Amino acid sequence: MLASQRSTQLAPARPALATRTLTSSQCTRQSRKCRSVRAQAARATLMDTLVRPFTSLGQVANLKEGIASFYDQSSGLWEDMWGEHMHHGYYPQGTAPKSHQQAQVDMIDEVLKWAGVTGVTSMVDVGCGIGGSSRHIVRKFPGASAKGITLSPVQAKRANEITAGAGMGANASFQVADALAQPFPDSSFDLVWSLESGEHMPDKKKFVGELARVAAPGGRIIIVTWCHRVL
Ligand code: SAH
Repeated sequence: MLASQRSTQLAPARPALATRTLTSSQCTRQSRKCRSVRAQAARATLMDTLVRPFTSLGQVANLKEGIASFYDQSSGLWEDMWGEHMHHGYYPQGTAPKSHQQAQVDMIDEVLKWAGVTGVTSMVDVGCGIGGSSRHIVRKFPGASAKGITLSPVQAKRANEITAGAGMGANASFQVADALAQPFPDSSFDLVWSLESGEHMPDKKKFVGELARVAAPGGRIIIVTWCHRVL
């Protein structure tokens, strides 16, 4: 099991996003006031979206709703800016500059190498975003198949669209489901993958319990997550 300590230089943080705009009649023209009102509304919307998952601690239904809504709203912009991966990059010291997108792919490869993964038959991508990890791993290990789960309907739809567009629909599919109550039988996957989703889970023991439940005997569970302290 892996918890990344992020000793690497980090890719820029997830972008601050606000996708709703003010529809007030005050804002029918591009005056300075109008721009200021729009900016305030965008900030309010952003704060609301970002804070909701944390202010509803203890209310798991609201937390899930908040996370789903955050990713529903932000994933399109994230994809436009950064592409199919929603996680940090790998930038080993002393190496040549590279694109952030390449660094994100390198992070996946480095994690697989670190965990000694040399083959994959079937994987589950827990907190899959728009499916970037699944597609990369399925391409890397021919014959592998992937199932991904996310709380965001927008992400699941987009993940399936990109995957079908890449001709990989038979090998990878994505659905809305909760990592804490996964819709898979016991012992289903030889690779259980969670890349920067664990930090969202309100019940870490249950989360790890579910990862262990769906892992096949001898399979691998890989968790890369944000930590408050070095484990
Ligand atoms: N692993 C992806 C996405 C990381 S963003 C990538 O690296 O590209 C975090 C993801 O975790 C989002 O897809 C979000 O919907 C998902 N997530 C958060 N809590 C979840 C939960 N309880 N069940 C399933 N997915 C969850």
